[in-house]
Amino acid sequence: MKIAKDTVVTLKYKVSEASGKLIEESKEPMVYLHGGYNNTLPKIEEALEGKEAGFDCTLDLQPEDAFGVRDESLVRVIPKSEFPPGVKVGGQLEGRSDDGTPHVFHVMKIKGPEVHLDGNHPLAGKALKFHIKVTGVRMASGEEIAHGHVHGEHGHHH
Ligand code: ZN
Repeated sequence: MKIAKDTVVTLKYKVSEASGKLIEESKEPMVYLHGGYNNTLPKIEEALEGKEAGFDCTLDLQPEDAFGVRDESLVRVIPKSEFPPGVKVGGQLEGRSDDGTPHVFHVMKIKGPEVHLDGNHPLAGKALKFHIKVTGVRMASGEEIAHGHVHGEHGHHH
């Protein structure tokens, strides 16, 4: 069966930096509902369209096709006194971006009385290499299509 709109794709993936340094490897297979439901990157959907189980490929994606370019306005330094207790370097907290919408910031470092935050996705600004292997394709159920995501094994449970 070929990957097309409203099919459920099961795949394994590895993400590395352009240099080849491994960033993440799927331990469990990932499933997603194919067809523009924003469940995975559009470039990945494009590469997999019309393919079948067993297909594998390596995609070299520029930052704008992966997790976006960095937005330096999301880099913040706040006084430690404004900082919720218990949050550590490597943690996250919810703040607001310049236009007032809630946004998750990562705690990058604590330097004396200053806390350095970065609201960019950790992979923003990076060119990435995705190695993808399709391990299964099936028709989505009507309910999955209505919800815009996959149910069952490796999908949503509710
Ligand atoms: Zn659902």
